Amino acid sequence: MTDRYAVIGHPIAHSKSPSIHAAFAAQTGQDMSYEALLAPLDGFAATVAAFRAAGGRGLNITVPFKEEAWRLADSLSERARLAGAVNTFVIGGEAIAGDNTDGAGLVRDLEWLGCRLDGARVLLLGAGGAARGVVLPLLEAGVSRLFIANRTAERACALQVHFAGHDARGALGAGGWHDAAGAAYDVVINATSASLSNQAPPLPAGLYAPGSLAYDMVYGRGLTAFLGQARAQGAARVADGLGMLVEQAAEAFALWRGVRPDTAPVRAQLRAATPPLD
Ligand code: NAP
Repeated sequence: MTDRYAVIGHPIAHSKSPSIHAAFAAQTGQDMSYEALLAPLDGFAATVAAFRAAGGRGLNITVPFKEEAWRLADSLSERARLAGAVNTFVIGGEAIAGDNTDGAGLVRDLEWLGCRLDGARVLLLGAGGAARGVVLPLLEAGVSRLFIANRTAERACALQVHFAGHDARGALGAGGWHDAAGAAYDVVINATSASLSNQAPPLPAGLYAPGSLAYDMVYGRGLTAFLGQARAQGAARVADGLGMLVEQAAEAFALWRGVRPDTAPVRAQLRAATPPLD
């Protein structure tokens, strides 16, 4: 019987996940289906239960249910536990295992873009769910500096405390936008939602080291205000979050099917259908 998977969210019609997973399944010869499930805002658990009762084997979880998924899972991977959010359910006969593949997706995308993270100085903008999900994978990738800057500085400082036990190198720092000044970074990652309203965080000048990369987690919006600002302030390269989307999906696919798809053709296909960054 064909194994069933889905992405669940509200709204969900815009999701690129069904086409990404269909491409992965075709490429790897997996007998599976993947659909988009719209859950009512107050009906996440019931929608998951119905999908599971119908034989569903796994789910991706997107806005606004990632925290609720974290609470619903029977077990959590360490990276999901620390992230406080779950984007992948592996549904077994007895239990639902929760994981979070967003951070691994980001790290893979940065590697794909040619970034050497071991020893890199990274500035992470934002302290919401997306930022929280990438701190541990960035620390594990060996960054020498990870400064978390946020509009509400206290939230960034709370993340520093939260991850202190995983910061053997003493890489973590935190504060408001201007607390990041006085240092240069090899990678600046925008994990705020400011780009959704085409705003850029008001960053001080001088943050971009020679050869640095500016990375905006949002995708499909062309050159965002943040990426434009980064170019003006000296970033050598800019990238959006489309690659992260594909790589986090590949990570989930590997958890479900035990086979890792080649992301290159799917990345190229999505890129061709997305506004350019120039
Ligand atoms: P969230 O939990 O709501 O957090 C929003 C963050 O953005 C907070 O740090 C908030 O600061 C900050 N912020 C909001 N408006 C701002 C503004 N006008 N100026 C400066 N900072 C502002 O959202 P999230 O779930 O972390 O998502 C953040 C972004 O990441 C979204 O755009 C999402 O699309 C993207 N994302 C992409 C991927 C991918 O696969 N590419 C995966 C996950 C998320 P305060 O704390 O001060 O409110």
